[in-house]
Amino acid sequence: MYKFVEKNNIKILKFDILESFGITEHYYSLRNGGVSSPPFNSLNLGLHTTDKPENVIANRKLLEENFSIPVRDVIKLEHGDKILPIYDDKIPSEIPFADGIMTNVKNVPLSIFYADCTGIFILDPVKEVIALVHAGWRGTLKAIALKTVKAMNREYGTNPKDCVSAICPSIGPCCFEVTEDTADLFLNSFNSYYPQSFLKDLSLCISKNNKGYFVNLWNLNKIQLLCAGLKSDNIVSSNICTSCHNDLFFSYRKENRVTGRMGAVFMLI
Ligand SMILES: [Zn+2]
Repeated sequence: MYKFVEKNNIKILKFDILESFGITEHYYSLRNGGVSSPPFNSLNLGLHTTDKPENVIANRKLLEENFSIPVRDVIKLEHGDKILPIYDDKIPSEIPFADGIMTNVKNVPLSIFYADCTGIFILDPVKEVIALVHAGWRGTLKAIALKTVKAMNREYGTNPKDCVSAICPSIGPCCFEVTEDTADLFLNSFNSYYPQSFLKDLSLCISKNNKGYFVNLWNLNKIQLLCAGLKSDNIVSSNICTSCHNDLFFSYRKENRVTGRMGAVFMLI
């Protein structure tokens, strides 16, 4: 379903379902093999962290040299549900705020940089459209994955049944404890965006045990993609927890908010 690829001590994760069509390049980066010092050790890609910018730029260059997709800031993430079409590879003087990006233009690299949140690749191989989604708990609450598929349909005529999607590693239901208030926000939101038939599955994504409330971002986002019209067989999730595997991934929560950022990078070729 997914594989790790390593070059010059830099490891990335790739999804078979995206590779199978041969019309895109993509990867999700891990944390090792870069030049940044602790707590950003070492392949930190986030220019919005307090790491030295020259180290972040050197890390991005390392990825570019080894895996041939340019790495650049396209949007500033804001944990919202804004989705932007991207028309070219020019870097705008003012980088816009958004959490979803999509394009049908070849050789225009899309990237997002984050830790613990969920990154989602969506490919429409028929209309040749790609999208990248940043879904932390706030974006997931606002159903950004579902809204991105709708935006692809509006903008490019995408039929959701044609789409395939891959859900990147993120903090898992094993570690993503939330307050009762946050759990309630999710439970109260389900009537807003989803058909009745999905409500039971959605409620199972919010669990309570003797430690507290836990949220399953992987399943919530998978359900959103199903609600948007994707086929179940066309959605894969790595189900790797970034907090449990902090040796391989940056984890915002495990490292008390001061850490590096992984990148999800996607490009039509
Ligand atoms: Zn975990």
